[in-house]
Amino acid sequence: MPVIQVKFRRFTSLNTRIRLRDGQILASLSDLLEGAPESVIRAIAHILLAKLYKKPVDAAHNLRYKRFCSSAAVTRQAELIRTARGSKRFFGPEGRYFNLEEVFDSLNTRFFSGLMGRPELTWSEHHAKRSLGHYDAAHNTIVVSRVFDRPSSPRYALEYLLYHEMLHLKHPVKMRGLRRCVHSAEFKTEEARFPHLADALAFIRRL
Ligand SMILES: [Zn+2]
Repeated sequence: MPVIQVKFRRFTSLNTRIRLRDGQILASLSDLLEGAPESVIRAIAHILLAKLYKKPVDAAHNLRYKRFCSSAAVTRQAELIRTARGSKRFFGPEGRYFNLEEVFDSLNTRFFSGLMGRPELTWSEHHAKRSLGHYDAAHNTIVVSRVFDRPSSPRYALEYLLYHEMLHLKHPVKMRGLRRCVHSAEFKTEEARFPHLADALAFIRRL
């Protein structure tokens, strides 16, 4: 059986999704479902696995899930969250083409032995070209410009950008006399380990 990872995410609706990647099953559920009764969670697990392996969905499970989602309490809560999150303009890690948390996790495994704690990750509001990415220490958030969330944007460019910001987390700003040393020698050595560095920099220059 593959390793199964389940995450509850701040979706703005009752989203669920599942996929098989590198021998792992990744399931994401709206955090609205976090407090659902066990029978509903079982139904969701059944439906998602059936979807993944293209097997028929058991009618009883389907009904249980549909009933739960359409129940008055859940619809009202979904409505409230949609309003609250919408008005706070929370953009979140879920893009149209890339999910920042997924990219972060894969970089974390490949370059940091999975040891880096994940900060908040969010796409920027606009397709900003002046600020492609930054780490906001006050809010422990990495913001990535939406220009990377396009089919024409290669994954390695987004990975490089996020990797760079992750190195800022690992190597906090040092003072060398009165100068702030943002990209220290150790920072640069580690950055040079990124396999598609030249291609990524070339793509960013073109932007
Ligand atoms: Zn930097």
